[in-house]
Amino acid sequence: MSQPIILKSSAEIDIMFQANQIVAGTLKMLESRIEPGISTWQLDRWAEDNCRKCDSIPAFKGYRGFPGSLCVSINEQVVHGIPSRKIILHDGDIISIDFGVCFKGYFGDSAITVPVGNISNEVKLLLQVTEESLYKGIEQVRVGRRIDDISTAVQKHVEKFGYSVVRKFVGHGIGSNLHEAPEIPNYHRKKRTARILPGMVLAIEPMINMGTHDVKVLKDGWTVVTRDGRPSAHFEHSVAVTEGDPVVLSSRD
Ligand code: MG
Ligand code: MG
Repeated sequence: MSQPIILKSSAEIDIMFQANQIVAGTLKMLESRIEPGISTWQLDRWAEDNCRKCDSIPAFKGYRGFPGSLCVSINEQVVHGIPSRKIILHDGDIISIDFGVCFKGYFGDSAITVPVGNISNEVKLLLQVTEESLYKGIEQVRVGRRIDDISTAVQKHVEKFGYSVVRKFVGHGIGSNLHEAPEIPNYHRKKRTARILPGMVLAIEPMINMGTHDVKVLKDGWTVVTRDGRPSAHFEHSVAVTEGDPVVLSSRD
């Protein structure tokens, strides 16, 4: 049975905006510092320091036992990579950084995938199309539409380029819990999904693979990789539903 979707008041959405702006500011800071030679542990330190400076708590640390503050997933890693002093960024890598915080009891969650130094045009296109698909999904965040309209819009866009949508992991509602109903898959399912209502806050997060959609989890129990070893990209925003245009709470603008 699925959980009820919790609608948020405008006062709650204001706090969630602040939480998400801590996330957005952190991601921007990390993006500006990403270069060959630094470790993913260093990124994790910068993220957690910034988060605590902003009176917030890193949301992923300790979540079901996750050891880091940041999820850092390189190249064929899809999501949930564990920060490590031993993992050094190299020219030509891509790195997905996913960050969440809790501020005044509410969560923010957002992710970006960024190039390390120079990457191939083929991989550049994967990043571009994945980010575009996130915005195709966000365009559907309107009262009266259904969750499946978001899923379908993301899938349609990426499949035009021959990419595939990860099935095993999905977006989610967010609020005073990091993960709430509804689930937001990035692919169409033949089932009735919830209507979108004002006060919903949705974390939309396409995980898009260049090759097969199939993934597996490494022996560390966390790191998700593509089964064919080809690259994967991940972008995420937390978005509030209003009577009018969707509000991207984790906007970096
Ligand atoms: Mg996230
Ligand atoms: Mg999320």
